[in-house]
Amino acid sequence: MTIATNQAALNASALATRAIHAGQEPDPITGAVVTPIYMTSTFKQDGVGGLRGGYDYSRSANPTRNSFDAQLAAVEGANYALSFASGLAAIDVLLRATLQPGDNILLGNDVYGGTYRLLSKVFVPWGIGLDVVDITDVPAVAAALAAKDYRYVWVETPSNPLLNITDIAAVAAAAHAHGAKVVVDNTFASPVLQHPLADGADAVVYSTTKYIGGHSDVVGGAVVLNDKETRDAVAFLQNSAGAVPSPFDSWLDIRGLKTLELRVRQHSRNAMNIAQWMESRPEFERVWYPGLESHPGHEIAARQMRGGFGGMISVQLAGGFEAAKRFVGAAEIFTLAESLGGVESLIEHPGAMTHASVSGTTLEVPANLVRLSVGIEEADDLIADLDQALRRL
Ligand SMILES: *Cc1c(COP(=O)(O)O)cnc(C)c1O
Repeated sequence: MTIATNQAALNASALATRAIHAGQEPDPITGAVVTPIYMTSTFKQDGVGGLRGGYDYSRSANPTRNSFDAQLAAVEGANYALSFASGLAAIDVLLRATLQPGDNILLGNDVYGGTYRLLSKVFVPWGIGLDVVDITDVPAVAAALAAKDYRYVWVETPSNPLLNITDIAAVAAAAHAHGAKVVVDNTFASPVLQHPLADGADAVVYSTTKYIGGHSDVVGGAVVLNDKETRDAVAFLQNSAGAVPSPFDSWLDIRGLKTLELRVRQHSRNAMNIAQWMESRPEFERVWYPGLESHPGHEIAARQMRGGFGGMISVQLAGGFEAAKRFVGAAEIFTLAESLGGVESLIEHPGAMTHASVSGTTLEVPANLVRLSVGIEEADDLIADLDQALRRL
């Protein structure tokens, strides 16, 4: 079999197979099955400009990073993936590489607090117009697009922290009708559950810190897309500005991505069990989980997400802010911490923690809201932990 045939067979294979093999050819010199951590800043040249494999300096390209980029692009079924030192670095470079002062962004009203901070505190002063819309309301999105020229519509689905669901195909159709592009932050769903490019999005961004890394031990991000011109602009700014992941970061992302599907299915199963149990408890005024029929986006999520609804749950405590604070403090297996998507369960208070930076804005979150990142421990143990925490409210 030629390499080209292998590549075609691999591209046609299932996600789990691509995740384990794409970009993971054994090392040509030693046969090492796992991509080595090429912890080197520079590469010997065979005469001036005589680069081996195109490598000259690790800001521009590094074999471990390239391996992860090829793996992620294949998992997504996309032409290109470019990885960064963080999710926000990926978002920053994608936008800065393709926007200029005077351009406008239409942003969903429930997004990661750090994304809103970057846009409102860095991009707006740079001259970018920013408008916020209920992104789940397609007619409202279409009306906004008809009223003003937007370069980008920014979608997070499921959103952070309220787990709102946006119909990606419907928003993409509306955006494209007005000449706008759609970016989907697919961090919560991961490439296992949702394929925004296939649904019409123009680019996907990830915080690989979350499900892709999956073990709460690396901060990273990625831009995934099909358009070569945009890819080249992003790669140029990535090299010019330099927010690249280290080879070790890339190696951790590679390892994480290999088991992503197994983990995300278990996160989803556990979260569904816990969300159903939570709905039966009077201490919770509201349970936000797209897998529940009570969730306003359930029907869209059931169509758009494949094989599960993810590991994130948000709840509103009937006892208000004080009960929410006591609840997050009383959990024992659920660790009180920011972030999400790791094997271990985490619990946090968005209003005071991850989303403190949007307090006082249109993106402010309810004070009685608690967000859970359900891990892959045994579900019964997790429910027992939440149960004992409720008894201590
Ligand atoms: C964490 C997160 C980000 C930012 O990623 P970092 O890796 O922390 O820079 C962006 N979007 C979402 C949805 C996130 O959860």
